[in-house]
Amino acid sequence: MTTDFSLEDDWQQASIAVRAGQQRSAEGEHSEPIFATSSFVFGSAAEAAARFSGEDKGNIYSRFTNPTVATFERRLAAMEGGEACVATSSGMAAITATCLGLLSAGDHVVASESLFGTAVALFDKYLSRYGIKTTFVTLTDLDEWQAAVKPNTKMLFLETPANPLTQIGDIRTLAELAHANNAWLVVDNCFCTPVLQKPLELGADIVIHSATKYLDGQGRCIGGAVVGPADLVGEQVYGFLRTAGPTMSPFNAWVFLKGLETLEIRMERICSNAQKLADWLEQQSSVSRVHFPGLESHPQHALAQQQQTGPGGIVTFELNGGQDAAWKLIDSTKLISITANLGDTRSTITHPASTTHSRLAPEARAKAGIRDGAVRIATGLEHIDDIIADVARGIGV
Ligand SMILES: *Cc1c(COP(=O)(O)O)cnc(C)c1O
Repeated sequence: MTTDFSLEDDWQQASIAVRAGQQRSAEGEHSEPIFATSSFVFGSAAEAAARFSGEDKGNIYSRFTNPTVATFERRLAAMEGGEACVATSSGMAAITATCLGLLSAGDHVVASESLFGTAVALFDKYLSRYGIKTTFVTLTDLDEWQAAVKPNTKMLFLETPANPLTQIGDIRTLAELAHANNAWLVVDNCFCTPVLQKPLELGADIVIHSATKYLDGQGRCIGGAVVGPADLVGEQVYGFLRTAGPTMSPFNAWVFLKGLETLEIRMERICSNAQKLADWLEQQSSVSRVHFPGLESHPQHALAQQQQTGPGGIVTFELNGGQDAAWKLIDSTKLISITANLGDTRSTITHPASTTHSRLAPEARAKAGIRDGAVRIATGLEHIDDIIADVARGIGV
């Protein structure tokens, strides 16, 4: 739960991602073991009592702590530069635990309207039932954020780059706005990962992850995490989580640990594939627009360059032929997978208007800028020539 491992101060991210958090057992294992156990034994009745009173910090039960899960938590905390991390059963459980661990009835949230769809439903449909109200604003419009803040606003919540149009939220400025109003800034860092963006260094209070995506990196497990200060995350969010129960399994934690070890080199390839694909798409006559933070034509290219060390792996583009052209491209793919997941070794393709964003009314979709001809590709690790060839065939090049 805490970052009490021996890290050298000058270690770079790649070394932290491979080494941080591990506490080798007496067996001398090189790779981290999976502690597949639901409970832990005590040496005596007195030791059991000391564990339960909190006087002895040792393990009791895997809903509270588990050594494999704790290794993942220490490693991700070190990568994000946070004091504490708690791992959760999914990215949505991370968002739920953050909100229910920190907020009470009567509190108000200001959130970007360009959030993962299920997060919008959580705020709008469920948290509102318990007296936590949310105002949704345009991610890139700072005046809207400012105007939405009320005396009872406790949390500002955003995701950047946003899905699927890759708009960028200004973390530093929104952190200042939050702090000037005694609120917390929570950033879902799923699309960038700590390799490309460190929200805590930019002033955010809490970072959320869906580990399901790039942290796993091979599309195997569902999981999530919350990173931030010891009092907020290590106590309040953790306290809610161990009581409510959506904690991470040791097996999944082990998969995510292995994912973190290769995260930096995967992100390098994913970003370079995405940049090359976006550059190529911008030259195609059947493509009217490409949304990608690594392009100079992106309205917030400069901000992306300031707060991210790479453009990310999400490329969304609009085909002149509308939905017909988009579906034709999707159906013609031989390499790229038709699936809504992302962050995999395999490139994936979706039609946001009829899948991830189909629940929005047509007017709301139009306001959000998600057109019928828009296609989202999340680049994987395949060779870029094969990815481009797969798209070229589908758009008739
Ligand atoms: C997938 C996703 C989530 C939710 O994560 P799950 O692991 O599916 O619960 C949250 N935020 C973003 C940005 C996502 O892409």
